[in-house]
Amino acid sequence: MAECLFCAIVAGEIPSTRVLETDRILAFRDINPQAPTHVLVITKEHHPDVAALAAADPGLLGELVSTGHRLAVDEGVAEAGYRLVFNTGAQAGQTVFHVHGHVLGGRNLTWPPG
Ligand code: 5GP
Ligand code: ZN
Repeated sequence: MAECLFCAIVAGEIPSTRVLETDRILAFRDINPQAPTHVLVITKEHHPDVAALAAADPGLLGELVSTGHRLAVDEGVAEAGYRLVFNTGAQAGQTVFHVHGHVLGGRNLTWPPG
């Protein structure tokens, strides 16, 4: 079993509801959705956060962001607007230290809500 939760999901050791997969990227539904659309988009390769990924492989970061947009289009939330969020560090709420973008949409996401 992989030590990292999302590496274990990539390996199929932990089940997930996959919505998109390429040779380098995987997207699956968040287990505790915060919006009608809440998909996590990750690199299959382990990078601890988005800054580490940017430093190690900017091309793959570009792929991750464009895949986030692709998911928003596929989920039907791109036109109304969506968020692609990378929590970075504990105080920002990052709990899984394997880079992941949250694709959130389908409700009002303005902050503060209004
Ligand atoms: P973070 O707080 O690190 O930005 O986001 C981690 C996300 O992973 C959370 O939104 C949480 O609900 C989700 N999560 C945690 N464990 C699992 C799991 O086993 N399966 C899935 N699909 N999502 C998970
Ligand atoms: Zn990992």
